[in-house]
Amino acid sequence: MRFIVNTKGRNDIIDITPQVAQIIENSNIQEGVALVFVPGSTVAITAIEYENGVIKDLKKILEKIAPENDNYEHHKRWGDHNGAAHIKSALLGADFMVPIEKGQLALGRWQQIVLIDFDERPRQREVIVKILSEQNKKS
Ligand code: ZN
Repeated sequence: MRFIVNTKGRNDIIDITPQVAQIIENSNIQEGVALVFVPGSTVAITAIEYENGVIKDLKKILEKIAPENDNYEHHKRWGDHNGAAHIKSALLGADFMVPIEKGQLALGRWQQIVLIDFDERPRQREVIVKILSEQNKKS
C-alpha cells in the first residue's frame, strides 16, 4: 500500500501514524510486521514522541550534526544546496519497522511514526507500507 504526504520541506516533521494504522486495520492482518519506507535521499522515517518540545530538540540536534550552511562536497559536484538534507536522511534512514499484534501497531504510548522532509523545498512524498503476516488472515 502507498499513501501521499505533502511536506513543507526544511525539516518538516509529520506524524504519519494514523495513515499507517489505517492500512494495518484495512489489511486485517492480526500478527506480523509492517515495514514503512519512503523512497528518497533527502527524507527519513523514524519514531518519536510527537510533541513540540521534542520536535524542536530533534531539529536543533540535527542542525548541529549537519548544519544547513556547511560547505558540502555535494554542492560543488552537483550545484545542489541540499547536502545537509542528504546527510540527515542517511543518518536517520528511510525506513521503520513495527510489529503488529492483535491487529494493532505495537507502538509505545508516546511513540509516533514520523516522516521528516529535509529538502529545501516543499515536496510530495510517497510512503510505502509492506506487511509481513505471521499467519493467515482472520476469516
Ligand atoms: Zn542533492
